[in-house]
Amino acid sequence: MVDQAELAKRLRQETSGEVMTDSASRGRYATDASIYQAMPVAVFVPKTAQDIASAIQIAGELGVPVLPRGGGTSQCGQTTGAALVIDNTKYFRNVLDLNLDKGYVEVEPGIVLDHLNGSLKQHGLWYPVDVSTAGQATIGGMAGNNSCGSRSIAYGNMVHNVLGIDAWLADGQVAQFGNYANSSGAAKQLGDFVKGLAHTLTPEIEAHFPKVLRRVAGYNLDIFNPQSELPYTQDGSVNLAHLLVGSEGTLAYFKSLKLKLAPLPQHKVLGIVNFASFYKAMDSAQHIVKLGPTAVELVDRTMIDLARSNPSFKKTIETALIDHTAQTPEAILLVEFSGEAHAPLLEKLKALQELMSDLGLPGSVVAMPDASLQKNLWEVRKAGLNIMMSLKGDGKPVSFIEDCAVPLESLADYTQALTDVFAKYGSRGTWYAHASVGTLHVRPILDMRRDGAQKMRAVAEEASALVRKYKGAYSGEHGDGLCRGEWISWQFGQKITEALAEIKHAFDPKGLFNPGKIVNPPKMDDSINFRFPPSYKVIPLQPALDWSAWNVQNDPVTEETTAPGTGGDPALGLAKAVEMCNNNGHCRKFDAEVMCPSYRVTRDEKHLTRGRANTLRLALSNQLDIKDESSPLGSDAIKEVMELCVSCKACRRECPTGVDMAKMKIEFLSAYKKRVGHSLRDLAIAYLPKYAGTISNTPFLPSLLNLRNHITVIAKIQEWVMGISAQRSLPVWKGKTFWNQKAKGSYQYTPEQLANNGDGKGVVLLADTFNAYFEDENLQAALKVLKAAGYRVHIPHKSQQKQNQSQIDKTNSCSKEFCCGRTYLAAGMVDKAKENLGELVDHLAPYADKHIPIIGLEPSCLFTLKDEALVMGFGERAVRVSKQAQLLEEFLASEAKAGKLKIQLKAADKPVLFHGHCHQKSFAAVTPAMELLKLIPNAEPKLIESSCCGMAGSFGYEAEHIEVSKLMAEASLLPSIRKSPDSWVVADGTSCRHQIADGTQREAVHIARILGAHL
Ligand SMILES: Cc1cc2nc3c(=O)[nH]c(=O)nc-3n(C[C@H](O)[C@H](O)[C@H](O)COP(=O)(O)OP(=O)(O)OC[C@H]3O[C@@H](n4cnc5c(N)ncnc54)[C@H](O)[C@@H]3O)c2cc1C
Ligand code: SF4
Ligand code: SF4
Repeated sequence: MVDQAELAKRLRQETSGEVMTDSASRGRYATDASIYQAMPVAVFVPKTAQDIASAIQIAGELGVPVLPRGGGTSQCGQTTGAALVIDNTKYFRNVLDLNLDKGYVEVEPGIVLDHLNGSLKQHGLWYPVDVSTAGQATIGGMAGNNSCGSRSIAYGNMVHNVLGIDAWLADGQVAQFGNYANSSGAAKQLGDFVKGLAHTLTPEIEAHFPKVLRRVAGYNLDIFNPQSELPYTQDGSVNLAHLLVGSEGTLAYFKSLKLKLAPLPQHKVLGIVNFASFYKAMDSAQHIVKLGPTAVELVDRTMIDLARSNPSFKKTIETALIDHTAQTPEAILLVEFSGEAHAPLLEKLKALQELMSDLGLPGSVVAMPDASLQKNLWEVRKAGLNIMMSLKGDGKPVSFIEDCAVPLESLADYTQALTDVFAKYGSRGTWYAHASVGTLHVRPILDMRRDGAQKMRAVAEEASALVRKYKGAYSGEHGDGLCRGEWISWQFGQKITEALAEIKHAFDPKGLFNPGKIVNPPKMDDSINFRFPPSYKVIPLQPALDWSAWNVQNDPVTEETTAPGTGGDPALGLAKAVEMCNNNGHCRKFDAEVMCPSYRVTRDEKHLTRGRANTLRLALSNQLDIKDESSPLGSDAIKEVMELCVSCKACRRECPTGVDMAKMKIEFLSAYKKRVGHSLRDLAIAYLPKYAGTISNTPFLPSLLNLRNHITVIAKIQEWVMGISAQRSLPVWKGKTFWNQKAKGSYQYTPEQLANNGDGKGVVLLADTFNAYFEDENLQAALKVLKAAGYRVHIPHKSQQKQNQSQIDKTNSCSKEFCCGRTYLAAGMVDKAKENLGELVDHLAPYADKHIPIIGLEPSCLFTLKDEALVMGFGERAVRVSKQAQLLEEFLASEAKAGKLKIQLKAADKPVLFHGHCHQKSFAAVTPAMELLKLIPNAEPKLIESSCCGMAGSFGYEAEHIEVSKLMAEASLLPSIRKSPDSWVVADGTSCRHQIADGTQREAVHIARILGAHL
């Protein structure tokens, strides 16, 4: 019996690491990107190497297994286990040694591949095992799995690129694994032992190790007698580190890894071969590889069609097609050549074209010498699996036979036969990936809550028979884990299987490291290990928003989904939306885009989109110890993960399966505030649009309230009473606002009046609370620009509604201004938000019906109309309004593109820096802003590559969040601004401007103002 309490006590006493034993924290480490789940005994985040050594020792003494973990992106369950899970990613991510002369780097196991390659780029080098998960996979995890990249035909797998590993053994000592001839101590003893085994088993090794480049099953017993098509070492020497590569955390715990680097290719060209027949594509691969490409990657028709139906990928995928107006090809092969000079690569492209002609397909190659087009296309290929995984419903593409490797000459027959197997079991496979090495990814759609396990077994049996027939490898890329462990003995036979157990025993006599993987594995279809076993149940729940779009089931062959609301989810779609997270870990990426700002500053799993989704899933399926069972959604466990979610909406766009945590946070806030009630701060934030007018119009009150920004003691009292940070200035109240300066009756048009002229010059401009009361200069500037360009502007106000005798919500009669409801959503008052937003939608719908553009200035307000308004039960009218809703820059940029924008802008006297609001980025509205700024002569606008500014509405004002808020801003936004002291800084978000002012003492302006200033 494992003593969890004793384990935690000793870890806390004897190490400096973070120790977690609560069910939510353990639950966040219970899954990887597979179908499996196992609750860890405890989770440990070590800070020092000594912490890890101590943890191994303590766990050993208490008989608790140890499971080292990187990004947790494994597909076979190798990173799940009832063990002490040790997370290397927070503190073990350093480069220890870089030797440019000898071309190697030594790193800690938790470093992420993209980060390593980012640091190597300046030296013209890279680590070339380019897995699709490069943004989140760690070197430790890649070595653990013997991972393989798209370019493995040229560079090999991890085993070909690891030069040495220093690792803790189960007895706590560190051993150095490297060149066998130079080895000593424990490593030498273990090496000798394995050599003896390998020698005895030479005939079995030769008979049973498949002769392919991709074989990752079991341990690399063949290091003394290489069977891989590509030798593990160039000089034929034996490297003991290669024993550990692919050992899935079962033999030793990697402390540091020495890696072989490659020169970054100077030039690359791509030839994309279009095939009308899938079989022909597969059959051609064996001929294409003879041209010496660095990659040959497959994308099949289903994937091409899925990409074409996705607005983010459509344009890019069509660059790969010979004729995008014709029928979609059955398959394309992306053939890459790279080298030091460009001209020979163009010759290679020609050779590819000639080869395809010889193979009976003249004119089938799209030549793509352009590097940026290539990059975009590779992104679509890399997103392949994720495109597939975005399928809604309980049936999901399941990974279990998706990396069998067969010799290229059999690839066409193998894929054809496996397609027939899928059909037999009422499913279908979408094929993609590494045609160059005979490893094609394919996942039949299975419903693990129903008959998935039975079908999985049946398909696996037939697939394995095919692999045997074609002399391939059953496990060719993603490892063994829980999914393929039982197939090791099938692949290698009894004697080698026993030898693997002996190796395990020699390294780890007590079975401390990651038990049940590689040696003594369970059956792959034992539902006790499933994340969604047939017993999985969701608790009934009435969400605040409409999640019916997720509440569907799908057809495994056509992938068509049933009507919204028919999926049978007791949480009315919320649970199914949460379950869309497949743990691929893309939200752990750091360098590009926005997701996930809270993880970027904390590096904690609980402050990550994935951690949040997992915690929600466990809560909604009653798998957490929640004290207040009446409100799992509003429980403290969920509060803990939602605390630092800034509702930036980045995951909505960047999560490959569209997990929309900002909306889920609304659900949490609604449930949580129902449980604990609203604080004074909630009320002050929520009702701001209601009382702003009263304050502004009361003589002397604005000045009185503004004293808070000048007298520290008032700010401190406010912090104490309301939790609003005294370190922050607050938006400045004004006596003169947009509303009390506006001439009565101006900017009031009915939809008919705006549309009447038929000149397309009528627009609606929303006067949101922030731009009307605190920064009315933005609204004035927007009006100036629109009027200069000849537009007639209607500004919604309830006085006009009264004139029109439309309905007026009596509950809101104290305020005459419309409101998008954003502040209510931030305080968890969904009903109030609905009330206010519903009124606005009602007012705007007749304008939308006349196709009148609805323009907003404040991104968070405007995008509420395009986002939350669609899940509040407003029906079709909200959809119509959302189609017309756009930011000022989106409107003006599209008018300019259509040649309809008639304004003259003066030249800028200094360059322009632009920071996009998160919601603006989430809705792809940054490009129009940049296009518009380019219309100002000499502006030379530059986009600041930043994640969230850290203010996120009220988040940055809250005393408990101020430090995190500042860290988010300092990640890249504020340093970029400081680096350009003489530029305009343009930012559309009120709170972004506030953060910039607080952090750099520079004034950022709304885009309307910079345009207005250059008229
Ligand atoms: C969408 C998607 C695409 C993928 N594409 C590819 C691909 O192109 N090529 C490919 O090969 N794989 C791919 N994978 C699988 C996976 O991403 C890779 O295997 C990846 O290298 C795992 O890295 P990780 O840091 O997440 O490792 P983890 O999953 O955390 O760990 C992997 C194994 O290594 C062990 N381990 C981790 N750290 C240590 C350590 N310090 N000491 C000893 N053992 C350790 C773990 O115990 C575990 O057994 C993909 C997965 C997904 C979800
Ligand atoms: S939240 Fe999205 S990006 Fe993150 S692990 Fe889940 S599916 Fe992947
Ligand atoms: S909304 Fe933003 S902060 Fe919240 S989980 Fe998504 S990316 Fe992270």
